[in-house]
Amino acid sequence: MERTLSIVKPDGVAKNVIGEVVKRFESNGIKIVAMKMIHMNQAQAEGFYAVHKERPFFGSLTEFMTSGPIVVMVLEGENVIAKNRELMGATNFKEAAEGTIRRDFATDIEKNVVHGSDAPETAAFEIGYFFNSFEIVG
Ligand code: ADP
Ligand code: MG
Repeated sequence: MERTLSIVKPDGVAKNVIGEVVKRFESNGIKIVAMKMIHMNQAQAEGFYAVHKERPFFGSLTEFMTSGPIVVMVLEGENVIAKNRELMGATNFKEAAEGTIRRDFATDIEKNVVHGSDAPETAAFEIGYFFNSFEIVG
């Protein structure tokens, strides 16, 4: 069993696709073991995306991530880190495979509806960033 962090980003919440995203996890056998809606401030977004602080899109990305509420979730399942990345699709929705979340709902390379941890180490950091042990069930 593995865990990963998923986020429905501000564009996904604004587009009313929280349910669509959740449905894709549940219909693919992925369990949601924690979930909440929050609205990050600039410092919180910068801390979350610290690995990207040298990237040219860092300022824009953190501003976008604070532009509205997000839904953060902990997903659990076998191989769930890779499975979630597969359901999400490529970062750039134009390159995302048919039937993926980003291909179906994203409109922009930055405003791409979902975040998903990319490795066990980042998953552990990202889950701990938003949830304490009492907020994760099972
Ligand atoms: P992913 O979310 O697929 O793991 P990255 O970790 O590379 O992608 O980037 C984090 C987020 O930064 C992306 O989901 C997207 O919102 C934004 N982003 C990535 N690349 C670009 C880019 N070239 N221009 C604008 N925003 C970008
Ligand atoms: Mg990433």
